[in-house]
Amino acid sequence: MQTIDQFNFAGKKAFVRVDFNVPLDEQFNITDDNRMRAALPTLKKILADGGSLIIGSHMGRPKKNPDPKASLKVIVEHLSKLLGVPVQFAEDCQKADAQAAALKPGEVLLLENLRFYAEEEGKPRGLAEDASDEEKAAAKKVIKASQKEFTAKLASYADCYVNDAFGTAHRAHASTALIADYFDADHKMFGYLMNKEVLAVEKIMTDTARPFTAIMGGSKVSSKIEIIENLLSKVDNLIIAGGMTYTFVKAAGGKIGTSICEDDKLDLATEIVEKAKKLGVNLVMAVDAKIADAFSNDANTSFVNVDEIPDNMMGMDIGPKTEAIFAEVIKNSKTILWNGPTGVFEFDNFSHGSQAVGEAIVEATKLGAFSLVGGGDSVACVNKFGLADGVSYVSTGGGALLEAIEGKILPGIAAIKK
Ligand code: AMP
Repeated sequence: MQTIDQFNFAGKKAFVRVDFNVPLDEQFNITDDNRMRAALPTLKKILADGGSLIIGSHMGRPKKNPDPKASLKVIVEHLSKLLGVPVQFAEDCQKADAQAAALKPGEVLLLENLRFYAEEEGKPRGLAEDASDEEKAAAKKVIKASQKEFTAKLASYADCYVNDAFGTAHRAHASTALIADYFDADHKMFGYLMNKEVLAVEKIMTDTARPFTAIMGGSKVSSKIEIIENLLSKVDNLIIAGGMTYTFVKAAGGKIGTSICEDDKLDLATEIVEKAKKLGVNLVMAVDAKIADAFSNDANTSFVNVDEIPDNMMGMDIGPKTEAIFAEVIKNSKTILWNGPTGVFEFDNFSHGSQAVGEAIVEATKLGAFSLVGGGDSVACVNKFGLADGVSYVSTGGGALLEAIEGKILPGIAAIKK
């Protein structure tokens, strides 16, 4: 496989797919430019080699073309500042031929939001809600046909293709996957960010030092079930935390009061416990909980055994005994995956458990473990507690990371590797 380090971009035009889907305030100011900064090593390497850049990204969920509220024009100035060179803008990503052709080494062209065109995602737009299956299938056929032209046009701008958008790697979109087919194997590659993400996932999923501990938190079992099932055949310890704890506790006959619970997943919880036993996985669950009389930071609280929650109270975080048990397992691990908080960490009074887990991971990492934090709220946790520098890797890809640890092949990765 071609690597960005080995490739000399001198005199080459590179189409680089990035994730510049940055949050904006109401005046269209960028409120967090981390996603832009994350792509800089790749962009700067290409420019330093003497290449030129054609940058493609999506932003938001536009439903028409053009959609001024989702224009990438608002990031041109900041991108130019970050790169230290002027950035040209192509108002229409499908009509950038002349601008792309005129690019000289060291020059940068940012394309307008690729998702202005429905072809980027390949999903028909404007179908009536009551459209029949035949109408839906016909519309899909039409968009799939025009998606080829759309993709070919993007590819025609460049000599080589670099994918640095891990956040969209789980989507088989025109610019994230299909475009790769228009380039020879030695002219398509991952960018630095993408490469780091792929290596981090491999370290967890295939190149695993043992013991391997996964900490699954968050609110619901239903949203994590595929990950839990895939991990059961890989991990030594599976720590179940967060709101999904109470579905397990109720399934085992415990009293959970008004805690969050998915009553239609009780059997599933029991099956997971049995499967873990069969596979020899050490399933670690909370023994005590910090409970509250309301879903509020100011609620009255106390600590109880996790299966003895009074009728009018709810479990909002793990208790101190559980913190100690979790920490012990984590500190004795050599590979750690953390997805999802142990409690309602957004409220300071219920964030202690998540912080304790984060701190135990940092300690384990100091002792030589590889730790990957990713998939939504656990990233917010490590940032909130200032622990991001103490873990081995914080993934930038929410949905993409989750699908990778579900064991799915990500189209954006497969397209480069094949
Ligand atoms: P998820 O998106 O599934 O990872 O869930 C993250 C959310 O789970 C966070 O917003 C937490 O506040 C929430 N959460 C964690 N523990 C609990 C709990 N015991 N009760 C209700 N919500 C919880």
